[in-house]
Amino acid sequence: MKKILLSIAVSLLFLNAIAQSSKPGQSRFSHADTLRGSVTPERAWWDVTHYDLHVAFDFAQKSIHGYNTIDFKILSTSANKMQIDLQSGLNIDSVITGREKLKYSRSGNVYYINWPHQNKQSNGKLTIHYSGVPREAKRPPWDGGVIWKTDHSGNPWVTVTCQGWGASVWFPCKDYQGDEADSASLTISVPDTLKAIANGRLRNKLDEGNGTVAYTWAVVNPINTYNLIPYIGKYMNWQEIYEGEKGKLDCSFYALEEDSSKARIQFRQVMPMLKCFEYWFGPYPFYEDGYKLIEAPHLGMEHQSAIAYGNRFQNGYHGDDLSSTGWGLKWDFIIVHESGHEWFGNNITTNDIADMWVHESFTNYSETLFTQCQFGKEAGEDYVIGTRKKIENQFPIVGKYGVNNEGPIDMYYKGGNMLHTIRQVINDDEKFKQILRGLNSHFYHKIVNGKDVEQYISSQSGIDFSKIFDQYLRNTRIPVFEFKADKDGFQYRYTDVVKDFKLPLKIYTDKEEWIKPTESWQQLRSTSKQLTVDRNFYVETKEIQ
Ligand SMILES: [Zn+2]
Repeated sequence: MKKILLSIAVSLLFLNAIAQSSKPGQSRFSHADTLRGSVTPERAWWDVTHYDLHVAFDFAQKSIHGYNTIDFKILSTSANKMQIDLQSGLNIDSVITGREKLKYSRSGNVYYINWPHQNKQSNGKLTIHYSGVPREAKRPPWDGGVIWKTDHSGNPWVTVTCQGWGASVWFPCKDYQGDEADSASLTISVPDTLKAIANGRLRNKLDEGNGTVAYTWAVVNPINTYNLIPYIGKYMNWQEIYEGEKGKLDCSFYALEEDSSKARIQFRQVMPMLKCFEYWFGPYPFYEDGYKLIEAPHLGMEHQSAIAYGNRFQNGYHGDDLSSTGWGLKWDFIIVHESGHEWFGNNITTNDIADMWVHESFTNYSETLFTQCQFGKEAGEDYVIGTRKKIENQFPIVGKYGVNNEGPIDMYYKGGNMLHTIRQVINDDEKFKQILRGLNSHFYHKIVNGKDVEQYISSQSGIDFSKIFDQYLRNTRIPVFEFKADKDGFQYRYTDVVKDFKLPLKIYTDKEEWIKPTESWQQLRSTSKQLTVDRNFYVETKEIQ
């Protein structure tokens, strides 16, 4: 019984916040899915440059109020209605540009604002005042909303999770992953007995004179909407400098006062994590905004430069080893995985969440690389291979485009094993590392499509991986390597593969050798009686008698 419950809990993590994003494998989508997940005419004409969000939380009423000032570039005059997403429970109270009040109408979770200045300006700015009772997260971080908790001493402890669900669950914005603000600031008003923390650096702390303090935090780098997050509580803070590839990186740690002694020990894993990830992926992508790890009342999330941590100061994933090899209990899953997203997810962000494998497959593989950094290459291999039993092969990894549809759980373990297989084919770890670093410099702070990443890997490695990506990302079958002994050695071929699939394999007979199986039988001349495929390739092997 315990085991079943545990496996359900593990799958839930990886289904992320799909309660409101459409489901993996879903084939019919609603108008609301299209409004959330596509570039509608009311979104296409403007490009967000800055969000300046001000919010106050009423702990007793579980309500919020505030305003978001949005700066944007006007890209075309094709439309004059602006789509602003804001989910039910919250209401726009007014929209103002300059001294002018703008008209608006509502349709479900979308507001349409009349923008009167087309043809007259190249940049726009408006302020949206809003208030209400936002959705309360029921299963954070897997669904979206505000988390109203208290610490053991009864102090408020409040934050938000909204990946997949959408940041419009708590503030009005263009809730579309393909349009990141180039910078953002978040001002949070709290009782002066508490602290408020958010992304980036503390710009200002203003005593508002009525027993409240307004903290203003700001990032100077592009950020997507679900990453912009407040944390409110009775926090302790300590700092450390990481001497990194781009110089001194300010690392700041926040834990509740009551947990700070445990946190000071567990958070020591951050320094070796940064060292390992800078080695494999290149410099931490947000030196200007610093790195923060913040205790949160949920398991964890990759909030840019302000990672949420709730793994109870223990190693593994909630104390569990996802690889069942023992290696997954040697380090803190949330520190490693959520920080890995700073490179894959926050630095390189996908346009459409259907390509979320770019975030999750590489970040899953960051766990393997961290295991290798700490315990050697064989340990890393054990780890990634150990996670294969969690692969379901029920739905293709790539979701449906344009309807806010993310991929299934396989974007983690299967994606990680696909990357591990690609690494074997490249067969040159220095080159593999340069490709991972190259991805992070070539697509630095960029929005990409999955295909851009696929093509970059093929072009930089000089190996056409297109059919390998088709096989593992857009198809649910696992390549089967079939072989049979004959008088000259062995015959071999692939089955269950996409057309023109060519994955070279490292095999062991009486020696190590490389073969290039296709769907046609080929002959391997050998005097060996045995043939095994190198375990690092994610294929099934079938000996035909
Ligand atoms: Zn992740």
